[in-house]
Amino acid sequence: MHDTSKVTAEHPDVRRVAELISGADRVVVLTGAGVSTDSGIPDFRGPQGVWTRNPRAERLSTLQHYMADPEVRAEVWRGRLENPVWSAQPGPGHRVIAEMERRGYLDTLITQNIDGLHQIAGSSADRMIEIHGTVRDVVCMSCGERSPARVTLQRVRSGERDPACRSCGGILKSATISFGQQLVAEDLRRSESAAANCDLFLAVGTSLVVYPVAALPQIALDAGARLVIINGEPTPYDGVADVVLIDRIGEVLPAIATHWPRWVQ
Ligand code: ZN
Repeated sequence: MHDTSKVTAEHPDVRRVAELISGADRVVVLTGAGVSTDSGIPDFRGPQGVWTRNPRAERLSTLQHYMADPEVRAEVWRGRLENPVWSAQPGPGHRVIAEMERRGYLDTLITQNIDGLHQIAGSSADRMIEIHGTVRDVVCMSCGERSPARVTLQRVRSGERDPACRSCGGILKSATISFGQQLVAEDLRRSESAAANCDLFLAVGTSLVVYPVAALPQIALDAGARLVIINGEPTPYDGVADVVLIDRIGEVLPAIATHWPRWVQ
Protein backbone atom coordinates (compact mmCIF):
# COMPACT_ATOMS: atom_id res chain seq x y z
CA MET A 1 0.00 0.00 0.00
CA HIS A 2 1.30 3.47 -0.83
CA ASP A 3 1.82 6.16 1.78
CA THR A 4 -0.12 8.62 -0.30
CA SER A 5 -2.29 8.03 -3.32
CA LYS A 6 -0.72 8.61 -6.74
CA VAL A 7 -4.16 8.90 -8.25
CA THR A 8 -5.60 12.40 -8.41
CA ALA A 9 -8.76 13.78 -9.96
CA GLU A 10 -6.77 14.81 -13.05
CA HIS A 11 -5.37 11.33 -13.68
CA PRO A 12 -6.59 10.26 -17.17
CA ASP A 13 -7.80 6.87 -15.87
CA VAL A 14 -9.81 8.58 -13.12
CA ARG A 15 -11.43 10.89 -15.66
CA ARG A 16 -12.12 7.92 -17.94
CA VAL A 17 -13.87 5.95 -15.16
CA ALA A 18 -16.01 9.00 -14.28
CA GLU A 19 -17.07 9.21 -17.94
CA LEU A 20 -17.76 5.48 -18.17
CA ILE A 21 -20.01 5.67 -15.09
CA SER A 22 -21.99 8.73 -16.18
CA GLY A 23 -22.25 7.42 -19.75
CA ALA A 24 -23.38 3.87 -18.96
CA ASP A 25 -27.01 2.75 -18.97
CA ARG A 26 -26.72 -0.01 -16.37
CA VAL A 27 -23.85 0.04 -13.89
CA VAL A 28 -23.27 -2.88 -11.55
CA VAL A 29 -20.89 -2.28 -8.64
CA LEU A 30 -19.32 -5.19 -6.77
CA THR A 31 -17.66 -4.29 -3.48
CA GLY A 32 -15.37 -6.22 -1.16
CA ALA A 33 -13.42 -5.72 2.05
CA GLY A 34 -11.29 -2.91 0.59
CA VAL A 35 -14.27 -0.54 0.72
CA SER A 36 -14.60 -1.01 4.48
CA THR A 37 -10.98 -0.94 5.64
CA ASP A 38 -11.17 2.89 5.83
CA SER A 39 -13.98 2.33 8.36
CA GLY A 40 -11.75 0.19 10.59
CA ILE A 41 -13.27 -3.14 9.53
CA PRO A 42 -10.43 -5.64 9.12
CA ASP A 43 -9.93 -7.44 5.82
CA PHE A 44 -10.35 -11.11 6.71
CA ARG A 45 -8.39 -12.52 3.79
CA GLY A 46 -5.75 -9.86 3.11
CA PRO A 47 -2.11 -10.08 4.22
CA GLN A 48 -3.03 -8.41 7.55
CA GLY A 49 -6.33 -10.29 7.67
CA VAL A 50 -7.89 -11.75 10.78
CA TRP A 51 -7.86 -15.28 9.40
CA THR A 52 -4.28 -14.99 8.22
CA ARG A 53 -3.15 -14.00 11.71
CA ASN A 54 -5.51 -16.22 13.71
CA PRO A 55 -6.46 -19.60 12.18
CA ARG A 56 -8.80 -20.17 15.16
CA ALA A 57 -10.96 -17.32 13.86
CA GLU A 58 -11.53 -19.35 10.71
CA ARG A 59 -12.63 -22.35 12.79
CA LEU A 60 -15.16 -20.11 14.55
CA SER A 61 -16.52 -19.09 11.14
CA THR A 62 -17.10 -22.63 9.91
CA LEU A 63 -20.73 -23.73 9.90
CA GLN A 64 -20.06 -27.34 10.90
CA HIS A 65 -18.19 -26.34 14.09
CA TYR A 66 -20.75 -23.68 14.94
CA MET A 67 -23.69 -26.07 14.66
CA ALA A 68 -21.95 -28.92 16.53
CA ASP A 69 -20.33 -27.14 19.46
CA PRO A 70 -22.09 -24.88 22.03
CA GLU A 71 -18.67 -23.65 23.21
CA VAL A 72 -17.87 -22.40 19.70
CA ARG A 73 -21.23 -20.59 19.64
CA ALA A 74 -20.58 -19.02 23.06
CA GLU A 75 -17.18 -17.79 21.86
CA VAL A 76 -18.67 -16.41 18.66
CA TRP A 77 -21.39 -14.48 20.53
CA ARG A 78 -18.89 -13.14 23.07
CA GLY A 79 -16.60 -12.02 20.27
CA ARG A 80 -19.48 -10.46 18.38
CA LEU A 81 -20.10 -8.01 21.24
CA GLU A 82 -16.62 -6.63 20.57
CA ASN A 83 -17.01 -6.49 16.77
CA PRO A 84 -15.72 -3.16 15.40
CA VAL A 85 -18.74 -3.10 13.06
CA TRP A 86 -21.09 -1.74 15.77
CA SER A 87 -19.23 1.55 16.06
CA ALA A 88 -17.96 1.78 12.45
CA GLN A 89 -19.01 4.66 10.23
CA PRO A 90 -19.23 4.58 6.42
CA GLY A 91 -16.07 5.69 4.63
CA PRO A 92 -15.55 7.76 1.49
CA GLY A 93 -16.03 4.69 -0.74
CA HIS A 94 -19.46 3.92 0.75
CA ARG A 95 -20.49 7.56 0.41
CA VAL A 96 -19.49 7.82 -3.26
CA ILE A 97 -21.36 4.59 -4.11
CA ALA A 98 -24.48 5.90 -2.32
CA GLU A 99 -24.14 9.10 -4.34
CA MET A 100 -23.92 7.07 -7.57
CA GLU A 101 -27.35 5.69 -6.75
CA ARG A 102 -28.83 9.10 -5.90
CA ARG A 103 -27.62 10.36 -9.29
CA GLY A 104 -29.26 7.45 -11.08
CA TYR A 105 -25.96 5.90 -12.19
CA LEU A 106 -26.38 2.65 -10.28
CA ASP A 107 -28.41 -0.38 -11.36
CA THR A 108 -27.31 -2.92 -8.73
CA LEU A 109 -24.85 -2.98 -5.86
CA ILE A 110 -23.50 -6.42 -4.99
CA THR A 111 -21.44 -6.47 -1.81
CA GLN A 112 -19.35 -9.22 -0.28
CA ASN A 113 -19.22 -7.19 2.93
CA ILE A 114 -21.32 -8.18 5.93
CA ASP A 115 -20.98 -4.92 7.87
CA GLY A 116 -24.10 -3.14 6.60
CA LEU A 117 -22.16 0.09 6.02
CA HIS A 118 -23.53 0.61 2.49
CA GLN A 119 -27.07 1.05 3.91
CA ILE A 120 -25.85 3.39 6.62
CA ALA A 121 -24.19 5.47 3.88
CA GLY A 122 -27.55 5.70 2.09
CA SER A 123 -27.53 2.86 -0.46
CA SER A 124 -31.02 1.40 -0.66
CA ALA A 125 -31.80 -2.22 0.15
CA ASP A 126 -33.82 -2.83 -3.02
CA ARG A 127 -30.81 -2.17 -5.28
CA MET A 128 -28.41 -4.09 -3.08
CA ILE A 129 -27.48 -7.75 -2.81
CA GLU A 130 -25.54 -8.67 0.33
CA ILE A 131 -24.17 -11.84 -1.19
CA HIS A 132 -22.43 -12.97 2.02
CA GLY A 133 -25.26 -11.83 4.32
CA THR A 134 -25.17 -9.31 7.15
CA VAL A 135 -24.09 -9.29 10.79
CA ARG A 136 -26.93 -6.87 11.55
CA ASP A 137 -29.50 -9.69 11.49
CA VAL A 138 -29.72 -13.05 13.20
CA VAL A 139 -31.39 -16.12 11.71
CA CYS A 140 -32.73 -19.31 13.35
CA MET A 141 -31.10 -22.35 11.77
CA SER A 142 -34.25 -24.45 12.48
CA CYS A 143 -37.30 -22.29 11.70
CA GLY A 144 -35.59 -19.62 9.59
CA GLU A 145 -36.97 -16.70 11.64
CA ARG A 146 -34.97 -13.53 11.14
CA SER A 147 -34.52 -10.80 13.75
CA PRO A 148 -32.27 -7.80 14.43
CA ALA A 149 -28.88 -8.79 15.87
CA ARG A 150 -29.11 -6.18 18.63
CA VAL A 151 -31.90 -8.14 20.36
CA THR A 152 -29.80 -11.31 20.54
CA LEU A 153 -26.66 -9.40 21.49
CA GLN A 154 -28.56 -7.85 24.41
CA ARG A 155 -29.39 -11.37 25.61
CA VAL A 156 -25.68 -12.25 25.41
CA ARG A 157 -24.81 -9.11 27.35
CA SER A 158 -27.34 -10.19 29.99
CA GLY A 159 -25.57 -13.50 30.49
CA GLU A 160 -26.99 -15.98 27.92
CA ARG A 161 -23.95 -17.77 26.49
CA ASP A 162 -25.70 -19.43 23.53
CA PRO A 163 -29.09 -17.74 23.08
CA ALA A 164 -31.67 -20.02 21.43
CA CYS A 165 -34.53 -19.09 19.09
CA ARG A 166 -37.48 -17.84 21.17
CA SER A 167 -39.97 -19.30 18.71
CA CYS A 168 -38.65 -22.86 18.35
CA GLY A 169 -35.56 -23.28 20.56
CA GLY A 170 -33.32 -23.70 17.50
CA ILE A 171 -29.73 -22.50 17.13
CA LEU A 172 -29.40 -18.80 16.32
CA LYS A 173 -26.67 -17.64 13.98
CA SER A 174 -25.60 -14.36 12.47
CA ALA A 175 -27.29 -13.95 9.06
CA THR A 176 -23.94 -14.27 7.31
CA ILE A 177 -22.64 -16.98 5.01
CA SER A 178 -20.20 -19.10 7.02
CA PHE A 179 -17.50 -21.34 5.63
CA GLY A 180 -19.19 -24.54 4.52
CA GLN A 181 -22.49 -22.76 3.91
CA GLN A 182 -24.05 -22.22 0.47
CA LEU A 183 -24.82 -18.73 -0.78
CA VAL A 184 -28.52 -17.87 -0.89
CA ALA A 185 -29.50 -19.18 -4.34
CA GLU A 186 -31.80 -16.25 -5.12
CA ASP A 187 -29.08 -13.71 -4.24
CA LEU A 188 -26.61 -15.47 -6.54
CA ARG A 189 -29.19 -15.68 -9.34
CA ARG A 190 -29.97 -11.95 -9.05
CA SER A 191 -26.23 -11.12 -9.02
CA GLU A 192 -25.57 -13.18 -12.15
CA SER A 193 -28.56 -11.64 -13.88
CA ALA A 194 -27.40 -8.10 -12.98
CA ALA A 195 -23.89 -8.88 -14.30
CA ALA A 196 -25.28 -10.35 -17.53
CA ASN A 197 -27.46 -7.27 -18.14
CA CYS A 198 -25.08 -4.43 -17.25
CA ASP A 199 -22.98 -2.38 -19.66
CA LEU A 200 -20.42 -1.38 -17.01
CA PHE A 201 -19.16 -3.61 -14.21
CA LEU A 202 -17.19 -1.85 -11.50
CA ALA A 203 -15.27 -4.07 -9.05
CA VAL A 204 -14.16 -2.09 -5.99
CA GLY A 205 -11.99 -3.30 -3.14
CA THR A 206 -12.30 -6.98 -3.97
CA SER A 207 -9.49 -9.37 -4.82
CA LEU A 208 -11.83 -11.30 -7.20
CA VAL A 209 -10.55 -14.69 -6.10
CA VAL A 210 -13.49 -16.00 -4.02
CA TYR A 211 -15.95 -17.95 -6.18
CA PRO A 212 -18.72 -17.91 -7.24
CA VAL A 213 -18.67 -14.10 -6.82
CA ALA A 214 -15.34 -13.93 -8.66
CA ALA A 215 -17.11 -15.26 -11.77
CA LEU A 216 -19.38 -12.19 -11.99
CA PRO A 217 -16.92 -9.94 -13.91
CA GLN A 218 -16.51 -12.71 -16.51
CA ILE A 219 -20.31 -12.93 -16.92
CA ALA A 220 -20.37 -9.16 -17.51
CA LEU A 221 -17.46 -9.33 -20.00
CA ASP A 222 -19.11 -12.21 -21.88
CA ALA A 223 -22.23 -10.05 -22.22
CA GLY A 224 -20.15 -7.23 -23.74
CA ALA A 225 -19.90 -4.96 -20.68
CA ARG A 226 -16.88 -2.84 -19.86
CA LEU A 227 -14.93 -3.76 -16.75
CA VAL A 228 -13.32 -1.33 -14.31
CA ILE A 229 -11.25 -2.56 -11.37
CA ILE A 230 -10.35 -0.39 -8.39
CA ASN A 231 -8.39 -2.23 -5.73
CA GLY A 232 -5.38 -1.95 -3.46
CA GLU A 233 -3.68 -4.91 -5.09
CA PRO A 234 -3.68 -6.59 -8.51
CA THR A 235 -6.52 -9.01 -9.34
CA PRO A 236 -6.74 -11.92 -11.80
CA TYR A 237 -8.94 -9.76 -14.06
CA ASP A 238 -6.52 -6.85 -14.49
CA GLY A 239 -5.38 -8.05 -17.93
CA VAL A 240 -8.91 -8.06 -19.37
CA ALA A 241 -10.27 -4.90 -17.69
CA ASP A 242 -10.84 -1.63 -19.57
CA VAL A 243 -9.39 0.40 -16.70
CA VAL A 244 -7.46 -0.76 -13.63
CA LEU A 245 -6.75 1.61 -10.74
CA ILE A 246 -4.53 0.04 -8.11
CA ASP A 247 -4.70 2.46 -5.24
CA ARG A 248 -6.58 3.46 -2.11
CA ILE A 249 -10.34 3.10 -2.51
CA GLY A 250 -11.00 5.96 -0.08
CA GLU A 251 -9.08 8.34 -2.34
CA VAL A 252 -9.82 6.97 -5.81
CA LEU A 253 -13.63 6.97 -5.56
CA PRO A 254 -13.87 10.59 -4.31
CA ALA A 255 -11.40 11.57 -7.09
CA ILE A 256 -13.75 9.99 -9.65
CA ALA A 257 -16.76 11.75 -8.12
CA THR A 258 -15.16 15.19 -8.51
CA HIS A 259 -15.93 14.86 -12.24
CA TRP A 260 -19.66 14.55 -11.65
CA PRO A 261 -21.71 17.75 -11.88
CA ARG A 262 -22.20 19.68 -8.64
CA TRP A 263 -20.30 17.13 -6.56
CA VAL A 264 -19.62 18.35 -3.03
CA GLN A 265 -17.25 16.26 -0.88
ZN1 ZN B 1 -36.53 -20.93 15.36
